[in-house]
Amino acid sequence: MTKDELKKLMMDRKNASLLLDDKEIDKAFKFCEGYKDFMSKAKTEREINIFAIEAAKKKGFKEFHFGDKVKAGDKIYFDNRGKAVILAVIGTEDIAKGTNITAAHIDSPRLDLKENPLYEQEELALFKTHYYGGIKKYQWTTVPLSLHGVIIKANGEKITVNIGEDDGDPVFVVTDLLPHLAQNQMKRPAPEIIKGEELNILIGANCIKGEDLSNRVKANVLDILNKKYGIVESDLLNAELEAVPTYKPKDVGFDRSMVGAYGHDDKVCAYPELMAILDIKKPKKTAIAVLTDKEETGSDGNTGLNSSYLKYFIEDLAATLGANPRQVFSNSKCLSADVNSAFDPTFPDVFEKANSSFINYGVVVTKFTGSRGKSGTSDANAEFVAEIHHLFDKEKVIWQNGELGRVDLGGGGTVALYMANLNIDTIDVGVPVLSMHAPFEIVSKLDTYMAYKAFYVFQK
Ligand code: MN
Ligand code: MN
Repeated sequence: MTKDELKKLMMDRKNASLLLDDKEIDKAFKFCEGYKDFMSKAKTEREINIFAIEAAKKKGFKEFHFGDKVKAGDKIYFDNRGKAVILAVIGTEDIAKGTNITAAHIDSPRLDLKENPLYEQEELALFKTHYYGGIKKYQWTTVPLSLHGVIIKANGEKITVNIGEDDGDPVFVVTDLLPHLAQNQMKRPAPEIIKGEELNILIGANCIKGEDLSNRVKANVLDILNKKYGIVESDLLNAELEAVPTYKPKDVGFDRSMVGAYGHDDKVCAYPELMAILDIKKPKKTAIAVLTDKEETGSDGNTGLNSSYLKYFIEDLAATLGANPRQVFSNSKCLSADVNSAFDPTFPDVFEKANSSFINYGVVVTKFTGSRGKSGTSDANAEFVAEIHHLFDKEKVIWQNGELGRVDLGGGGTVALYMANLNIDTIDVGVPVLSMHAPFEIVSKLDTYMAYKAFYVFQK
């Protein structure tokens, strides 16, 4: 064989910026302007749920309730408690032949307020938190935070809280020790440099005037909350309040090739997935896009994918279209749309290069996740892996393979196994991320656009 012939035998991957022409790079950058706008407006599962439903309604999607009749071409959405949403475009083909599902999660690591969060100590008012998802706790101190969520009042009224995002808003923060006095703290093992019970959010320092009572800073905060929202302290027991980094997404790099933001995991898959199903016209197979909650805590709970809400939705579609739901599940295919860990040149030791994903090398196709001998993975069948690889090649989706780091160094999971457990062919396809689960994560614009393209060609 000649040198050229031998070269053809070897796998050849290239940076997407070398493979795409200027027009397509421009398209990717424009797509990410929309993504950045979305990221600055919708930071939590509840806010993304609202964003997705509003965007879907504009494209003609109608709310679906169990028992509703549907027909080919119908665009529907199912709202699961304001925290997860399923969108679907009914296909022209018999649904018994299967559906094409994409599934991303819309929750991200953050600091949740405890049930009874408010306290005063040495004339400072603070909120106790219980962190949500896997975080390096020390990263979450001295980061400006905003508060998002809902409070249900005694009369049943629901108050929506969003404070810290607008330019005129105050922000909140977890304090950290000055280095001058941190000698002992710095000797703690890294997971305990900041302990869970030290993630306390500073919220006030002024005393209420005129009243001779203890906890006058706390009283002042309650007075402000009462005037603003009409709530009393016990109403905080009926609330879900989440503290997230307050800053807006920013371009990263002189070449503006990347986006830095809070919560790319997994909004960087959720947004392309949403845009893809909104752009689907009249698919042969029913297209379903799931935006789910609770992935970061293991997918349990009725808004997570380990619950039955997606199963009920598909069973109901099958019933109304006269199909056997078991056939629908068994013939369906799913792209589990979640991020992967991009190779970080500063920490090469945790990666095995040939099986890692790289920034700007396109969307990552991951056959299996899990840890310690593939435990907790769905491990896609080679036949289905091939089908997806060939589809992406045919449709000019730039893709790469990638596992989550070296064997036995850790690992992680996605919603893939919950989909696969329904007897659905499932594989992970997502965007590589640097600094995953940190308050400021990094993705590449070209990879993000390739995720959109991947989801679109899978469902169109
Ligand atoms: Mn994720
Ligand atoms: Mn995650």
